[in-house]
Amino acid sequence: MPTIADTAPADTTFRAASLELSGIELAFGTNKVLRGVDLVVPAGRTACVIGPSGSGKSTLLRATNRLLEPDAGDIRLGGESVLRSNPDELRRRIGMVFQHFNLFPHKTVLENITLPLRKIKKLTPEGAVEAARIQLELVGLREKESARPGNLSGGQQQRVAIARALAMKPEVMLFDEATSALDPELVKGVLGLMADLASAGMTMIVVTHEMGFARQVADQVAFMDRGVVVEAGVPEKLFTAAESPRLQQFLSQVL
Ligand code: ADP
Ligand code: MG
Repeated sequence: MPTIADTAPADTTFRAASLELSGIELAFGTNKVLRGVDLVVPAGRTACVIGPSGSGKSTLLRATNRLLEPDAGDIRLGGESVLRSNPDELRRRIGMVFQHFNLFPHKTVLENITLPLRKIKKLTPEGAVEAARIQLELVGLREKESARPGNLSGGQQQRVAIARALAMKPEVMLFDEATSALDPELVKGVLGLMADLASAGMTMIVVTHEMGFARQVADQVAFMDRGVVVEAGVPEKLFTAAESPRLQQFLSQVL
């Protein structure tokens, strides 16, 4: 299968931007879930976020593309604050892939990708189909364009979700445990696709339990616990010379 990196003519290119989160705070009622998160991802780099369940990882990703509004802090995309911009515009620039795919079950694979292209990007029907097919080709699912999501494997559904996000030409991609719902034999293919995207130069934040992926693909790994980034650094350092006791304990449980 061609990789994203070696099939990158005009239509499959993207313009990746830097992403800086600073002092992000967010509470649900009295539950302060994010308590001042800082994370800087230079353009074209991949940050993996690891940490225990309930530490605020999903909330952080949702706050980053403003599916949830932060109470405090700043989000800078390509150096510019986007907290006061139009949230729909922001979600065009920051693509997101969820654990449970979030595809429309009654639409075909092709329609799942063309719908947002037409509604949000205002492409013509023909333009949307053309753009969608290019992305489907890239994720190896061109022959599945007429299938419904329910007739695909979890791995194929997640590839469609990734293709749908990429078709919007985002400058940053967020992945929230994109392989956690997949059968073990399907995990590798989706991780491989994500690794290809990282080496093709996309800016990515990847929340994952896949420590092997974090080790091999991440430029930076951030460990979150109780609403803050407790420790961050290059994978080699984080996995072999963790400083904080909380990270040491976490790693002893997952490695
Ligand atoms: P993680 O992804 O690291 O497991 P989450 O960001 O999903 O953590 O959750 C962090 C905390 O925020 C948890 O205590 C969770 O119960 C709470 N939380 C998450 N989403 C909501 C919500 N929509 N309403 C209320 N509380 C929420
Ligand atoms: Mg989560």
